[in-house]
Amino acid sequence: MISHLGMSGSWRITDSRLDEIDGKHAHIIIETNKKVLSYIDPRRFGHLYFLNKKNFETKLNSYPMDISEPGFDAEHIYNIFQNNPNKVLKTFLLDQKNFSGVGNYIASEICARAKLLPTRIVGPLTKKDCKNIKAAIDLIILGAVKTQGTTFGGGYRDAFGEKGEGVQHLVVFHQKICQMCKKTPIIKITIGGRGTYYCPHCQK
Ligand SMILES: [Zn+2]
Repeated sequence: MISHLGMSGSWRITDSRLDEIDGKHAHIIIETNKKVLSYIDPRRFGHLYFLNKKNFETKLNSYPMDISEPGFDAEHIYNIFQNNPNKVLKTFLLDQKNFSGVGNYIASEICARAKLLPTRIVGPLTKKDCKNIKAAIDLIILGAVKTQGTTFGGGYRDAFGEKGEGVQHLVVFHQKICQMCKKTPIIKITIGGRGTYYCPHCQK
C-alpha cells in the first residue's frame, strides 16, 4: 500500500470509530478488533494505491528522490540548478519532479534560511549557495519532524490527533517580523500565484 497524503491528508489511529466531527472527512476506515485506522483528507488531494509487489516497486521507483534522502546533497541541488538555469528559485523549489516534498511554506523557509531572495534566478547560484540550501532543507525538515508537523489553522494532525508545533519555528512564513534578525518587517509577495514571504535585510 502506498499512501500519498496530498496537501491535507492524515491517518488517525483510535480505539473506536471517530465521531461525526473528527470523522467528517474520513474517506477510508480500516477496522480490526482492537483499533480503527482512518484516512482523513478534507481537500481530497491524496492518493492511495493497493499494489502487488512488482507494481509496488515500479511505482516507488517512478518517484523522484525525496529532499530528505541522503543523496539529495548540495552537489545534487547544484546540478538541478545548472540543468534549469532560468528558473526562479522559489517557484522552482515547488517543482515536485526536482524537489519532491517541498510545499509552499517550506519553500519560503528554505530561501530565508539560505539567505537568498525567493526571486533569484537559479543559474548563477554558487556551490556555496547550494550548501546553504541543503543545510536549510535539513534544518527545516528536522525541525518539522521534531515538532511533529506544522499546523496552520486546523490543518495537520499526527496519527493520534495531536497538532504539530512546527509553526513556532518559522522564520518568515506568516511572520510580521523576521525571526532571524528579529527587527525587519517581513515582505509578502505573490510568485506563481503562491504567497511568498521574505526578509529584505537577511536575504540577498
Ligand atoms: Zn531578517
